[in-house]
Amino acid sequence: MLREREREREVTEMEKKACRDHVLVLPFPSQGHINPTLQFSKRLVSKGLKTTLAVTIFISKSMKAKSSSVGIETISDGFDDDGFTKVDSFQTYLSCLKERGSQTLTVLINKLNDSGYPIKCLVYDSFLPWALDVAKEFGLVTASFFTQSCAVDNIYYHVQRGLLSIPPPDQSSTVSVPGLPPLEPQDLPSFLLVGSNPVYLALLVNQFSNLDEADWVLVNTFDKLENEVVEWMAKLWRLRTIGPTLPSMYLEKGIEDDKDYNLNLFNPDTTVCMNWLNNRLSGTVVYVSFGSVAALGVEQMEELALGLRMSNSFILWVVRASERDKLSNKFVDEASEKGLVVSWCPQLDVLAHKAVGCFVTHCGWNSTLEGLSLGVPMVGLPQWTDQTTNAKYVEDVWEVGIRARVDDKGIVRKEELELCIREIMEGKRGELIKKNAIKWKSLAKEAVDKGGSSDNNIDEFVAQLVSI
Ligand code: UDP
Repeated sequence: MLREREREREVTEMEKKACRDHVLVLPFPSQGHINPTLQFSKRLVSKGLKTTLAVTIFISKSMKAKSSSVGIETISDGFDDDGFTKVDSFQTYLSCLKERGSQTLTVLINKLNDSGYPIKCLVYDSFLPWALDVAKEFGLVTASFFTQSCAVDNIYYHVQRGLLSIPPPDQSSTVSVPGLPPLEPQDLPSFLLVGSNPVYLALLVNQFSNLDEADWVLVNTFDKLENEVVEWMAKLWRLRTIGPTLPSMYLEKGIEDDKDYNLNLFNPDTTVCMNWLNNRLSGTVVYVSFGSVAALGVEQMEELALGLRMSNSFILWVVRASERDKLSNKFVDEASEKGLVVSWCPQLDVLAHKAVGCFVTHCGWNSTLEGLSLGVPMVGLPQWTDQTTNAKYVEDVWEVGIRARVDDKGIVRKEELELCIREIMEGKRGELIKKNAIKWKSLAKEAVDKGGSSDNNIDEFVAQLVSI
């Protein structure tokens, strides 16, 4: 009790000193990176640090922002009017982002330094290793922020150091990485497989190009979720887990008014979704979403539509406007009794709703952490990048879901999807999965609650910054 009081006193002292210190946080410009970095920023503010998030001018124009405790400033990626929507290649985009981003980040830091709240630390997205060079010129404390799982990070680290060779596309061979279970080729991040786009692989591998120079490595995960690999990686850098970065109201409720992600790149159909869910019984709805980027083939979309209908559950399906043409109007009309198709939804509210009994997900890392933290059993249909590895963990390590199997053409057929959903909604395996989901929900909350592993790690980060 006494120690607790002392600790509380120490934290308050730390918070008093901290408001002099200013942290600049730089995400990669996409929804899946802005959400966790903004949420981490809010946690820094709650510990007394002044925190500013720097997004690209294009993102700042296109986002629907609600006010938050975090300041917003801009840098440029060289495409202020269209972002990456109209660039001829991803490589061109990344080169411009690096060049213009470095220049305008320098301008921004100078501006903020002149504002009376000089920047002390740059927390930069690990996808933007060039930001570390800019920070060094100003003598800032640096923290590389990883928005993917530690397991996935360790795989890329091994590739970058030449410690892991890319396996042949032969299903029988497995790959060993310290702290991870044996992985089959289908479990590896898709960029590692032969024939995948080298530009993406270079982006991921380069996260480690200058990481040894960073003062901190922060990862959006929590210790108990990835115990072994976290311990292994923490021997290489001052690596700390700080997640899951869901808004506090969905976890420990420690930060007042932290109810949503605040920056949406799409407009959610909130009223329609919530009214529809309010009229459904507990655990009867399957929520389907493939995140903000994944684009499905027309054939896959058709199989999905049929499989969802065959599952005989209520369906709430997010089909982004850019994907809508792939879905026949016939499905939408026929599904109108048992289904609702929207272009974007407030995913956290949906997952937290008692009507939702299953989450059919692409296993993006944010969605995976959200499903896990809100205790919703998942059916994984990973599409690319780290989603394949996340799906492996969902099924085999945390046992909170089932990965739908693809056929020779890489498509999940309607019968397979129906089976996976029925297993979760009605089957024996579903009962065990639901129990595990409840267990992980409480461990996620514990990690960010006062005195939990992630909360302690954030305190340590803040205390070290304040002491300089
Ligand atoms: N999301 C949302 N509404 C939707 C679909 C997704 O708010 O209708 C959010 C979701 O909560 C998550 C993010 O978008 O935080 C997607 O991130 P994720 O890492 O899962 O996938 P990505 O979009 O990066 O592929």
